[in-house]
Amino acid sequence: MSKPYIGGCACGAIRYEISAEPIAMNDCQCRDCQSTSGTGHGSYLTFPSREAVKLEGEARHWDMVGDSGNVKTRGFCPACGSPVYLTFSAMPDLFTIHAASLDDPGRYEPQMVTYTVRGHAWDRLDPAVPKFERMPPMREVANAPASGDPGKGRHAGAPARGPAGCRMVGPHLQ
Ligand SMILES: [Zn+2]
Ligand SMILES: [Zn+2]
Repeated sequence: MSKPYIGGCACGAIRYEISAEPIAMNDCQCRDCQSTSGTGHGSYLTFPSREAVKLEGEARHWDMVGDSGNVKTRGFCPACGSPVYLTFSAMPDLFTIHAASLDDPGRYEPQMVTYTVRGHAWDRLDPAVPKFERMPPMREVANAPASGDPGKGRHAGAPARGPAGCRMVGPHLQ
C-alpha cells in the first residue's frame, strides 16, 4: 500500500486519514452530484473498508433515499459547508470521499465517468476516460484500471432518488 490518503474539509474542522487503496475512482454527472458539488459533476474515491478510515471532527449528515429504499448519507462540514464523504446503507463497509477534499487531489485518477446522460455540454471531461450513460455493469467496473483491488467491488444497491439519480450497480460512488 502507498501512503495514506489524507484530507478534510476546507476549514480544517474535519480531517480524515485512510490507510487503504481506493477500489474505484469516478466522476459522476448525475443531478445529485451536480447539486452537491455546485458544478457539472462530483469526483469520488471509494475505499473498501471503514476500518481503514480515521476521522476527526464532527461532520453533519443528510440522507438521500433511492428508488430501492437504500440510503446514501452525505457528510459535510457544518462550519464551512464542504462536502467531504459519503456512506451507503446497503454497503456499510464502503467509504467514499470527494476528490478535492484530499490534501493532494493529484492522487485522484478518474477511471470512468458515470451518468453522462445527465451531463451538460459545458462540463467536458477527459475523452480518454470511459463514459457510461448511467452506471456501468459490475463486470466493467471490475475491469476498470483500478489501482486498488477491483475484485473487492460488490453489488452496490443504492440508487438515488428518481431517474436522475445515481444507480449503484458498481462500487459507486454515491
Ligand atoms: Zn470545514
Ligand atoms: Zn452521482
